[in-house]
Amino acid sequence: MGQPVSLREAFAAVEARVAAACARAGRPRSAVTLVAVSKLHPPQLIREAHGLGQRVFGENYAQELRDKHAALADLPGLEWHAIGPVQPKNAKYVAKAATVFHALDRLDVAQALSQRREGAPLRCLLQVNVAGEATKAGISPEGARTLLEQVRALPNLTVVGLTTLPPLHEDPNASRPYFQALATLARGLGLEALSMGTTGDYEVAIEEGATLVRVGTALFGARPT
Ligand SMILES: *Cc1c(COP(=O)(O)O)cnc(C)c1O
Repeated sequence: MGQPVSLREAFAAVEARVAAACARAGRPRSAVTLVAVSKLHPPQLIREAHGLGQRVFGENYAQELRDKHAALADLPGLEWHAIGPVQPKNAKYVAKAATVFHALDRLDVAQALSQRREGAPLRCLLQVNVAGEATKAGISPEGARTLLEQVRALPNLTVVGLTTLPPLHEDPNASRPYFQALATLARGLGLEALSMGTTGDYEVAIEEGATLVRVGTALFGARPT
């Protein structure tokens, strides 16, 4: 992966690639939000990224989100996105700390989030398992409309779009058909937000219409284990 780069250089490099992908796709840069996935990294690193101007951070684990939300409450303008599946009993942490939840795939979780949410509605994306992988979270494409209607009946939540994680692959172009399928599904449901693309394939995702890209490793390096 070449020389280790500073956080500033890593953010600049990703930003340049995001901007270039937007330009290739004929989309304004403002159409895409970079979600900096900070899971398993220490709060201090998020503080440094905030100092570089980054405001939107993604966390996978509800308790870790709770702890970082508390530890970094002094930082102005921080926006937390919960991007991993959550158990109903931990939904309260997401309801309290997050502005956007990318991984809604169960009605019981939606109900728990709805009960615990105060203030502005929690913006939610339904996670869709486009490839039908047995090991992955997410509803089937066919199940999206039913869950959408069920969640729409609940207070304090707003469904804004869809999320997918395509099968892992070395070649970013291998993700393209899954991103296209998600975009088509969202269009059919009248949903605008598309959370798709990680370090390996965020440029392809932007070309296919992603409005939220979830990038961790390219910004922060390998996660501590
Ligand atoms: C960890 C994670 C990411 C970030 O992956 P990178 O390959 O480090 O960019 C994105 N989305 C989800 C759901 C994740 O769990």
